[in-house]
Amino acid sequence: KFAKEAQLRRKLHNLVQELRGNIRVYCRVRPLLRNEANSCITFPGDDEIRITNDVTGQKKTWRFDKIFAHEATQQELFDEVQALVVSCLDGYNVCIFAYGQTGSGKTHSMQGTAEDPGIYHRTFRELFNVIHDRRGDWRYKLQTSMIEIYNDEIQDLLIDANDTRPPRKLAIRTGPQGNYVPDLVIWPVNTPEEVQNALNTGTQNRSVGCTNLNEHSSRSHLILSVYCDITTPNHTQYQSRLHLVDLAGSERLKKSGATDERAKEAMFINRSLTSLGDVIAARAAKTPHVPYRNSTLTYLLQDALGGDSKTLMLLQINPSDDAFEESLCSLQFAARVNNVEMTVEKRK
Ligand code: ADP
Ligand code: MG
Repeated sequence: KFAKEAQLRRKLHNLVQELRGNIRVYCRVRPLLRNEANSCITFPGDDEIRITNDVTGQKKTWRFDKIFAHEATQQELFDEVQALVVSCLDGYNVCIFAYGQTGSGKTHSMQGTAEDPGIYHRTFRELFNVIHDRRGDWRYKLQTSMIEIYNDEIQDLLIDANDTRPPRKLAIRTGPQGNYVPDLVIWPVNTPEEVQNALNTGTQNRSVGCTNLNEHSSRSHLILSVYCDITTPNHTQYQSRLHLVDLAGSERLKKSGATDERAKEAMFINRSLTSLGDVIAARAAKTPHVPYRNSTLTYLLQDALGGDSKTLMLLQINPSDDAFEESLCSLQFAARVNNVEMTVEKRK
């Protein structure tokens, strides 16, 4: 029965896969906030998004795999992410990236609020549910880690807060299970409470030594990882990884008044986001050389970005007129990584 079930699942999965490919781009446009007056974003057709320059009247339109307009709920977003995250229980490596300028809703989508949680909580809840449903001859072990990449350096966010030793420099090694970070703290998780505990510890550690967590977190990448050990009914074992990444803000540095420190941060962010784009674009175009090694982000995630792994880019857009330039850049970035069709540019 289990073998049949697994076979069916895989078949269905492959079917969906064929239809949609390994790389997907979703776009979520958050609502206007109270202090924002006008939107430069409209939705001309199914899964189409249009940006209009209110000064020149110039319009550009793209189509993505899925578009979530202002009123889309966290649940609606997760409904379209669910199959992807669950596929890690079938042995696939999966990466989900939230990309966009600061204030575009990345953390809202990934983390959400206590009342209305985002992808992080919903993912674990779903994984535990599916594991429960498949209980019997299938066995799963889930573990989690939480790290931050700041200026291309890795910080472990699950370290014991009472540990007073100076933080160790963490390096990436290559191993049989893929690239990994030796000495990284990894917690087994069996319940949503344990996951919450890990998230709380991570958030707490992230705020240590910084005066403004929001500002700090917009300049570093946050990676919540799930390590899944799978034992099938016929005792085959395999391992998969799921990475949920809240990327640093994609906005370009305003030159005036930038300190050296800010310029350095901006350089690292720019380089890592560019190399992430390069890696995904190279895979989409099936070019033989994929430049994983150009940044800590892509090198660390190499094994979850290559092969038959699945990648979802969740492009977050701030719809406000004032954000036009940055939103345009974001849309262009996303279009590049997925070869998405771009409809003819029309004028008003
Ligand atoms: P980022 O992480 O990209 O910097 P945030 O997730 O912090 O952006 O979102 C910026 C602001 O917009 C926050 O006040 C957040 O509550 C709000 N926001 C983002 N997305 C939504 C949404 N889908 N619905 C309502 N409010 C949102
Ligand atoms: Mg954020």
